[in-house]
Amino acid sequence: MPNVRLEGLHKSYGDIKAADGLDLEVRDGEYLCVLGPTGAGKTTLLRMISGLLRPDKGKIFFNDKDYTRREIEERKAALLSQSYALFPQLTVEENIIFGLDIRGADEKLKEQVLISMLDLVRLSGRSKAFPGELSGGMQQRTALARALASGADLLLLDEPLRALDARLRISLRTELRSLVKSLRMTTIHVTHDQDEALVMADRVAVIREGRILQVGTPKEVWDQPATPFVANFVGQSNFFTGKVIQSSPYTLLRTPEGAVLKGRPSELPAGEEAVLGVKIGNTEISKERAGYLQAAVERVIFEGRNLHVDLMMDNGQRISAKIPSWRKGKVVVGDRTNVYWEESKGTVFPMPPGGLENELKVE
Ligand code: ATP
Repeated sequence: MPNVRLEGLHKSYGDIKAADGLDLEVRDGEYLCVLGPTGAGKTTLLRMISGLLRPDKGKIFFNDKDYTRREIEERKAALLSQSYALFPQLTVEENIIFGLDIRGADEKLKEQVLISMLDLVRLSGRSKAFPGELSGGMQQRTALARALASGADLLLLDEPLRALDARLRISLRTELRSLVKSLRMTTIHVTHDQDEALVMADRVAVIREGRILQVGTPKEVWDQPATPFVANFVGQSNFFTGKVIQSSPYTLLRTPEGAVLKGRPSELPAGEEAVLGVKIGNTEISKERAGYLQAAVERVIFEGRNLHVDLMMDNGQRISAKIPSWRKGKVVVGDRTNVYWEESKGTVFPMPPGGLENELKVE
């Protein structure tokens, strides 16, 4: 199975930079999720790897060989695009074994693959149907099975679970991952759904405006985000700004109102403007315990396991907290409360060059 390396890929459409110096390495047999907001350049990335799109600049390596100018057929990559591109005149099963058919695979192998694929995508009962007779989700599952059965080494998945209902999406996550792992395919799966990326990936690459911001294990991008954007996109965060007082053994930050906030150690010099990010799930509220800041409860939303609480701080900034549902009735609109967090849950960033608001913007 190939490892894939992208070096300095650029692709522009007029003024839009769909890829703006993309560097990425995907290991042999790895399940890598590329996570980013809409328009970040995820589809462009997959199309360049598949050979459907030529980069303006930069190189694509498969197993350290330069494939930038090689033809689509040489790459042995199966791309599952957002428009499923099924053959309308072929049935579900004919679509699925299409790749094996053109390679001249023997009947027994085709039968085996077909049974396991139909089972995986829960379409055993509809194998003789034509794509036009299927729902969007069923068409997507057929296209997924066809990509898996194609005999490719490299699987390129563009939002493969997008059209499925929530329950099926969640159960297919684990099954899809274990299947491609057992086939030992290298997989690049693009999604804008952070839960999907965190659950499925060996590593997650966060992309924005045609650039990779961070690559790491799900735990790394969650716990040690490289930028405020990553901290907010992978699990929502609250952000506080201030000047660094000290950066070790923990960081202390003084806000413009004079509150002193604590976060993990950093390398920032005293006096520097900085941003402290705390995941909303790590933002604690209590009337009894002392806090770094004070706020009023504006809204409490029941989310099943958790309550989502929106708060207005005394300086007019809005923040949120996610607290367990058993506190329902104990936290009510109008309450004044203290806000705190464990210092190890506060990540300190230098102030982004374009300002915090610009940094957090999702187009
Ligand atoms: P989505 O999640 O919405 O599919 P994406 O992350 O896959 O988004 P791309 O489809 O790669 O993003 O597009 C990246 C940028 O390039 C977008 O601003 C898009 O409008 C632009 N773009 C992509 N393809 C073309 C094209 N053929 N012509 C002009 N602009 C394009």
